[in-house]
Amino acid sequence: MVKKFIKDNENHKKEKKQCEDLYMKLKKLRKNFIAPVDERIQESTNNSDFGSEDFKFSVFVRLIIGSRTKDSAVAKKIEYLKSKGLTINSILDHSQETLAYELKGVSFPNNKAKYLIKSAKIIKNNYNGIIPDTYKDLISLPGLGPRTANMFLHICYGKTEGIIVDSNIHRIANRLGLVKTETEKQTQKELEKIVPKTQWKDLYVNLLGFSQVFCSVKNPDCEKCPASDICDYTKKYRKIEF
Ligand code: SF4
Repeated sequence: MVKKFIKDNENHKKEKKQCEDLYMKLKKLRKNFIAPVDERIQESTNNSDFGSEDFKFSVFVRLIIGSRTKDSAVAKKIEYLKSKGLTINSILDHSQETLAYELKGVSFPNNKAKYLIKSAKIIKNNYNGIIPDTYKDLISLPGLGPRTANMFLHICYGKTEGIIVDSNIHRIANRLGLVKTETEKQTQKELEKIVPKTQWKDLYVNLLGFSQVFCSVKNPDCEKCPASDICDYTKKYRKIEF
């Protein structure tokens, strides 16, 4: 029994080390190309508004209206809302119906309008208009979930309290062989076990870049992907001729 425990423990350590090494290789390969997410980060940091409360609120709104909506539609809607002045007070000037009307074009406009108005009220009344900077407080705001709360902390406060996992990260982490999981939640848990905390901050951007440029849901472009030599998916399903 004790022997088995020691062996399991050793195997676990070995697996962890292999996954950690794999991630470090990916990180190096990721430096060889630029993905849309890199450009978006660059645009945000170049924004003269960066770091202001209005900037943070626009990120907050983007994360809430972004669920199950294409990036391009969200970007368009944010530009539209900004052109009319996007602040906590401008959201609170709306009724749920009028805000839902303004959100036409994104999915579930009624629910998202309800979340935005409720959250804006809480931020104004309980936090003096400053969006909180802790996971615990953010997750209590209507409309934010674990992923979006972590994303907000990462973008607006440079904090990393957990690895951000969406469907893209879940898919590519499994294809690469970093994890073997069924759900996004399990993927986050497993990645947090194998990737050192010092690397959590960049993991989302690094893996999302691979996903955006090469690793689409259907027909991943393994022939061109720099990770093809170390990816489980290519070993299992593809024969690549160079
Ligand atoms: S080699 Fe293919 S499956 Fe693996 S990460 Fe690249 S595109 Fe995705």
